[in-house]
Amino acid sequence: MKSRSLGVIFIAAVIVPSILLAVLSIRSAGREEAWMEKQMAATLDAEVSHTAGLAGAEVGRVIDDLRTALDVPVGSDYGRILTRWKSATALVAVPFMLSPRYGILWPPPDARADDEQKRFLKENGSFLSDRIATTVLQNIAVRYQNEILAENSVAKDKESESGAPAATVPEGRAAAEAQAGAAVAPATRQKAIDSFAQSPSIQTRVYEEAREKGDQLNARIVEPMAMASQGQSLAADAAAAPGLGDEAAKPAPVPAPTAKKSAAPAKEQPSQFVLTSQLLSQIASQGDSGLIPRFIGEKLVFLFWERQKDGRIAGCEIAAGAFRDRIAGVLTSTWSPVRILTLLDENGAPLATPPDTAGRDWRRPFVAREIGESLPRWEAAAYLTRPDSIAAQARSSSLVIWIMVMILFVSVAGGGTMVLSSVYGEMKLVRQKATFVTNVSHELKTPLTSISLFVDLLRRKGPLPQSKKEQYLSLMASETERLTRLINNVLDFSRDRAARRYSMSTVDAREVTGQIVESQRVRLESRGFSVSLEPASAPAAPVRADSEALKQVLLNLLSNAEKYSAERKEIVVSVTREPEAVLITVNDRGIGIQEKDREKVFREFYRVDDSLSSGVQGTGLGLTIARRIARDHEGDITCAPRDGGGTSFVVRLPAAGRGEAPA
Ligand code: ADP
Repeated sequence: MKSRSLGVIFIAAVIVPSILLAVLSIRSAGREEAWMEKQMAATLDAEVSHTAGLAGAEVGRVIDDLRTALDVPVGSDYGRILTRWKSATALVAVPFMLSPRYGILWPPPDARADDEQKRFLKENGSFLSDRIATTVLQNIAVRYQNEILAENSVAKDKESESGAPAATVPEGRAAAEAQAGAAVAPATRQKAIDSFAQSPSIQTRVYEEAREKGDQLNARIVEPMAMASQGQSLAADAAAAPGLGDEAAKPAPVPAPTAKKSAAPAKEQPSQFVLTSQLLSQIASQGDSGLIPRFIGEKLVFLFWERQKDGRIAGCEIAAGAFRDRIAGVLTSTWSPVRILTLLDENGAPLATPPDTAGRDWRRPFVAREIGESLPRWEAAAYLTRPDSIAAQARSSSLVIWIMVMILFVSVAGGGTMVLSSVYGEMKLVRQKATFVTNVSHELKTPLTSISLFVDLLRRKGPLPQSKKEQYLSLMASETERLTRLINNVLDFSRDRAARRYSMSTVDAREVTGQIVESQRVRLESRGFSVSLEPASAPAAPVRADSEALKQVLLNLLSNAEKYSAERKEIVVSVTREPEAVLITVNDRGIGIQEKDREKVFREFYRVDDSLSSGVQGTGLGLTIARRIARDHEGDITCAPRDGGGTSFVVRLPAAGRGEAPA
């Protein structure tokens, strides 16, 4: 397989999928925070809904308790009974009694009334005597339940091809009932509330319709952060147009809370409860008893009422403190390491303040829910104990994802690259071996051809001058030497490295080098080389070496100096001593070796130009074996460019007697 196509396959099968994987993982890491926030919002919403339900139920129990404690027999002295009721029941602040036609029987409207009773009558007299209406809340989902249920059944019709008639009929009936203003079954009412809560599109449409019809929508006291995007524009619209149209027909807007405005005012959200106004007689016609929340200016008061058997209405203004305590009693665990759970009153102030919450913006809960009609503007709200915990958690988990992706990417890309480069290496080696085989056969054939040629010439009949004979014999000897060197190199290379046995002795490197130079001189000079050994005379340079192996190294280097020289045929061999080492240098004026190839030439089979057409025969093993031998002698061979052109090969061998005490 070509190396190019291997690269393409590698990119397509490894790099591209890894990059895609990394991009996908990093994108999902980016969404981590939103996802965690959603999970947390869902968990806390369930808790908040539960708490809101408990608070609503507690209001019911407060009404029951007040009813149980109040017993006004027909024709009794209600003044005494009501006073006793007040002193026996902490929830009763100011009791009252109305005639069946809404005449105020108690508190006494004259000088007998104390200050509190006077204040009470001033605030509630007109309402209790059925002359002015009060603002009551109505769940928008109940008010528009026919529209919600009709919309729901249309959506369901669209969903199922069959039209599911069984499912649509009851809803149709419910819608009709609601339209007619008939008392609607609680199940139907709940269905509308649920549909409204679950569908943002229904919410949008219902709020729009309420606005078109001129209903008064108030803003919530809080802006839950986890639902910050919901219905903001509607809320802004609702807040911008309070009390449109005929004042008399419209309820007075519930006063906006003023207490403890936060530094950065929260964006307002629309309340789920629309404001309508009703006379006491209208409210009382809907049941036997109940609780009427009334805004007196900015103050919220709760009025309890109960119709007696004789048609009179007895009731009271509920004591604010006792009432708050009762409702706050539903909060069992306000604080946990994860969240703070509380109830907020009509001013957005918490009923129960958990410890460690100073400076908290109570109007920015994480999730919150309005409690209901009986507690206008009140909310059950949850806050994150550490507001930055989700972001921090998301940051650390996306950091982990990042690190894992990076490790994955690096290992895939790194591992892939390593595999690819080793495959490349193997392929190159296979190619080099193939070239090696061709080169070896060629190298073996050439000297053999020359030798057989000279043998033929010597055998020829007829006299041959002595000088010719000697020339032929010396050429035959040189070719045989070349053949031997080649065979030695190949054998050396193929032999197990550890199996090579050196017979080490202290030899004079200068002497061994001199012998080799002299043995090659005739041949080299006959080929036009000038050969010299430097310095001309010098003291011995003893090394511990196998002299045959050392000769093989020098022969290989001299042979290369000869092979890779062009016009300038000059070889200088020098032997120098250093305190610790002996350096044998073979310099030539040949073609030189480029920087990038200076280490590679020592690799097995490596040839700078390994084409047969280069004109220089070789196997790529000479320097490999030479370095191997040098290193086996605890030395090395390096190559460097020679000043003035050519190459210098330096054989460095440790000097014999190193470390020994001088004699
Ligand atoms: P061979 O000479 O059989 O090819 P070697 O291992 O002896 O193998 O040399 C490896 C390569 O190093 C040669 O093919 C050649 O390209 C380069 N080389 C070796 N010696 C010299 C030199 N003196 N001058 C220039 N190039 C050389």
